[in-house]
Amino acid sequence: MSKSKNSLKVLVVEDSKVTLKVLSNYLNTMGIDEPLLAETGHQAVEVFKRERPDIILLDAKLPDFDGFDVARRIRKMEGDGEWSAIIFLTAMSKDEDLARGIAAGADDYLTKPVSEVVFHAKVRAMQRLIDMQRSLIDVTRKLDKANAELLRLSTTDALTGIANRRSFDDFLLREWRRCMRVKKPLSVVMLDVDYFKLFNDKYGHQAGDDCLKLVALQIAKAAPRATDMASRYGGEEFMLVLGDTDEGGAMWMADRVRQMVGDLKIKHYATDSKYVSVSCGVVSVMPDDKMSIEQLLQSVDAALYQAKRGGRDRVVAGRYGSI
Ligand code: GH3
Ligand code: MG
Ligand code: MG
Ligand code: MG
Repeated sequence: MSKSKNSLKVLVVEDSKVTLKVLSNYLNTMGIDEPLLAETGHQAVEVFKRERPDIILLDAKLPDFDGFDVARRIRKMEGDGEWSAIIFLTAMSKDEDLARGIAAGADDYLTKPVSEVVFHAKVRAMQRLIDMQRSLIDVTRKLDKANAELLRLSTTDALTGIANRRSFDDFLLREWRRCMRVKKPLSVVMLDVDYFKLFNDKYGHQAGDDCLKLVALQIAKAAPRATDMASRYGGEEFMLVLGDTDEGGAMWMADRVRQMVGDLKIKHYATDSKYVSVSCGVVSVMPDDKMSIEQLLQSVDAALYQAKRGGRDRVVAGRYGSI
């Protein structure tokens, strides 16, 4: 038997000093030098709590409560995905005792006196299961991470890093329903970069992309509340959803974002200010079940159109239904 250091953490629960010595020796020959020891059921539970061993060799008869009880308590303490192998040590050899041990939570059993060959074989078998469990946990962790990343990718816009159209749709529907339930106003602001085609034509597509990133950041900054959301709606168009916000509040927010974009001072030859600017349409509603989100979006698009017609770099409030 090789005696290289083994990383298994083993707890031996045994009140007989003689058996304890025998088992410790068996473990030593497997490279497990310092097993954890407990002589009573109470101690076993305490050591388990503190150390979370990989394998527990559990005597069925203990001075306080019996091994079946200890096994049950340990299983109750294990969290999701947590598992320690429990091998029962029993002098009894009736089939019923074996069945009882397994029912209490044991994974295998050994009858006393324990043969070294059988002991090693059973610990090996458990080690294999433990290795399998560890790699499963590892794979699960990687999967969780990959899923979180997928969710992030499917809900954010790749260029700007803010929420994408899909998240906007989800969020607006949620806020629409919530505001309807709590009878609060809901506002939507649609923002569109002015003369952006000319910006691209003059300064290049890469400069256009950089500009959109900066504009997106300003819009996102303006929506810090949990009931707000900034998103890229498509191209050079952005949306702000503002829950619990009436027309006055939404107009104030939209104008603040408009100013924040102007403050970036990104040069643009084609606008009046000579800097990149945005035009905004705003519509506020008290959602009810006779209204539709579709019509809200058409109304806000119409308000934005008015802002463009009125000279750009401005905010225009529209009415729900006036398209
Ligand atoms: P207006 O003031 O009326 O909004 O004029 P505009 O030129 O901004 O509007 P138009 O819809 O004619 O042009 C939008 C431009 O936005 C055209 C398109 O090339 C550019 N654009 C859309 N998405 C992107 C993008 O992801 N990156 C870059 N660089 N440009 C984009
Ligand atoms: Mg005993
Ligand atoms: Mg546009
Ligand atoms: Mg535009």
